[in-house]
Amino acid sequence: MNATLRTQSKLTRGDVLAWIARYAGVIAENRQWLTDLDAAIGDGDHGANMDRGFQAVLAKLPALAEADIGAIFKAVGMTLLSTVGGASGPLYGTFFLQAAQPLAGKTELELNDWIAAVEMGVNGIIKRGRAEVGEKTMVDTLAPALAALKAAAQAGMGWKPAAQRAADAAHQGALSTVPLVARKGRASYLGERSAGHQDPGATSAFLLFDSLAQVVNDADTPAAPRSAHAA
Ligand code: ADP
Ligand code: MG
Repeated sequence: MNATLRTQSKLTRGDVLAWIARYAGVIAENRQWLTDLDAAIGDGDHGANMDRGFQAVLAKLPALAEADIGAIFKAVGMTLLSTVGGASGPLYGTFFLQAAQPLAGKTELELNDWIAAVEMGVNGIIKRGRAEVGEKTMVDTLAPALAALKAAAQAGMGWKPAAQRAADAAHQGALSTVPLVARKGRASYLGERSAGHQDPGATSAFLLFDSLAQVVNDADTPAAPRSAHAA
């Protein structure tokens, strides 16, 4: 797919576009699961919300083929803000708009650029939603994913192991929400009855990091890219 990623140093604009397209496909595939998770502790619209938003994003990707990565993130964030209702639209919109800032003008990303972007994005979500780790939200996935990226960079890892570690930490983060009592968002109305269910937003946030790890991994096998979910 590209040479730079195989040297584990840079993620190209093409990789970023492939990741966003893959995530849109993964959300479409998992729409029912996200809906079911939200039906258990919320109002059952998380799958539909995310799918509506990322199908709108998918439609915009062809026009972004020559944009820098910051501009791509900005367009994703704006599209989510304008198409997704509920709590998750403004939160994911904020993530992409904030993450766009350190990526302005860039056409490829070092691991440290991605860490700076995720940090801005997660901080933006925390500022907007005021959720802390342990309150059964997407923050329970995002915070450990960010920590895993930082630890991987500190250990001198390249993109591939770092992306995989972030996805693994995100998975653990999503699973960690199961026993928690929701303190933020709609699920908090249920109080103790919210315990025993996986948080839908923490789950969609896991899929975001998992999709990136898949795309980063695909760069190994340029002859047979997994394009099932690509636009
Ligand atoms: P709504 O709750 O408005 O129906 P969604 O169902 O699309 O919106 O999204 C619900 C998800 O949003 C929750 O599972 C949770 O992860 C996330 N969420 C809700 N409130 C907050 C908050 N204050 N901070 C972070 N995430 C939140
Ligand atoms: Mg909902």
